Amino acid sequence: MQLTDEKYSIFLRSLCFAAEKHKYQRRKGKNPPPYINHPIKVVEILWQEGSVRDVNVLVGALLHDTIEDTDTSPEEIQLAFGEKVKNIVLEVTNDWRLSKAAMKQKIVDQAPHFSFEAKQIKLADLICNVRDIMNDPPLRWTPTRRLEYVQWAEKVVEGLKGCNEQLEICFEERVTEAKWRINQLYNEY
Ligand code: ZN
Repeated sequence: MQLTDEKYSIFLRSLCFAAEKHKYQRRKGKNPPPYINHPIKVVEILWQEGSVRDVNVLVGALLHDTIEDTDTSPEEIQLAFGEKVKNIVLEVTNDWRLSKAAMKQKIVDQAPHFSFEAKQIKLADLICNVRDIMNDPPLRWTPTRRLEYVQWAEKVVEGLKGCNEQLEICFEERVTEAKWRINQLYNEY
């Protein structure tokens, strides 16, 4: 699929929108990078590893944490990017009103029912998070906590299967590498 001027325009608008919304936030980690690096990495994984060219998926990926982590409302996204993108972003927005355990279980339960678009974003998001947890983990994350995250991500991905084979392979590779490195960490303890 060709990226037309109109698609470039909506893509760049969503990049500016997300950058503005996340401008005061940073990721967790030893040298916390600006938060916007995360959605940019997710969109890069979709493009490079998953060969995704659907602009709704790419825009949804850039916006995927705006409702959850900033003051952005669903109506704002609908107004700026349309109903389809709003629905995709809502699907991948976590429900922080629940306890952490309940929220994580909810994601596992809902994953198989996500739209094709949302499944691809979730998969790229998990690839990105597993990679970050190995390369620059949040402070005080023990090997056990890292392993628990990876195992939870595997359960979510069970429900996402069939949405993008290349991304699924990429996820498997990241998981294998992560588990190998966690094992090494255990040996160092
Ligand atoms: Zn994310």
